[in-house]
Amino acid sequence: MGSCDRVVEVLREAPAVTLLTHVRPDADTVGSALALALALDRSGVDVEVGVPGPMPLPDALGRLPGAKLIVPAPEIVGNRTVVALDCASAERLDDLRDVFDSGTTRVVIDHHASNVGFGDVDLIDPDADCTAEIVLQVLDGYGADVDVDVATCLYAGLVTDTGSFRWARPGSHAIAARLLDAGVDGPGWTRTLLDTHRFGWLAMVADALRSAVLVPEAFGGNGLVYACVDHTWRDAIGWDEAESVIDLVRTIGDADVAVVFKESAPGRWTVSMRSRSVTDLVPVARAHGGGGHPHAAGFGFTGSVDEVVASFTTA
Ligand code: AMP
Ligand code: MN
Ligand code: MN
Repeated sequence: MGSCDRVVEVLREAPAVTLLTHVRPDADTVGSALALALALDRSGVDVEVGVPGPMPLPDALGRLPGAKLIVPAPEIVGNRTVVALDCASAERLDDLRDVFDSGTTRVVIDHHASNVGFGDVDLIDPDADCTAEIVLQVLDGYGADVDVDVATCLYAGLVTDTGSFRWARPGSHAIAARLLDAGVDGPGWTRTLLDTHRFGWLAMVADALRSAVLVPEAFGGNGLVYACVDHTWRDAIGWDEAESVIDLVRTIGDADVAVVFKESAPGRWTVSMRSRSVTDLVPVARAHGGGGHPHAAGFGFTGSVDEVVASFTTA
């Protein structure tokens, strides 16, 4: 039996399911969890969705259909069947890791190349553009109705993880067509998820871009460009507003690798990395205790930004 069939079987047998997103939740992890949650809820399954970590859910994600199925982390019951969505490793479950570990049937649904599997049933497809695509396969196997609400949650993951379809595979375009046919407001959700910021975002971006440094000799001469967003912006405009800075920095053609250091609290950093072509970021992320995909990866660290920059510039 394939892993997808096994996941479907597990879900069919479960009277109650806990679905978990990754820390610093994005549209793929939340959209995947909510799509599955909506389908299970309608089938009479007792379902709860948990979002780990100190970072609040971005406003746009709280407006996705089914968001009412999200339960505040302290109120999560923790069912015997637990599913981690879009989590490259157990560490990504942060303070809800115990909830996952306490399950008797632990399911991992993910698309990260760095994911070595940490569940009893691992459905991991590094060829999928997003976890939402894998969830769609599960929903089809389950016989769920992919109506406009479920489709909207899946589309949120698809449109964001493909960078508005910039690097979408042919199959992802076909899935997008199916979701749009189901009634998803594609332009509206794309604007909400990717093209909407608070006014203060402009000043934060200006500050971040002014901090940019080009290191042509890094990464074997393929080059590095990096920028920093300090923690003061988090309180002013929200943590998620800094997530878009990497999409500006990665456009610089002088360097293969682009990095943004985001300070979530004094001395605590989350690092976003992107590579344009030759550099495989998975080993770089792993070396720092993180993970991701060959061209998009990340990790966290504690210390001064000079310390971590040094490890890059000597790479
Ligand atoms: P981001 O820069 O946060 O958009 O992350 C880029 C990619 O790397 C995404 O697919 C993330 O899920 C993954 N990623 C980021 N941080 C980590 C981490 N600490 N561990 C594993 N994967 C990560
Ligand atoms: Mn994600
Ligand atoms: Mn993803």
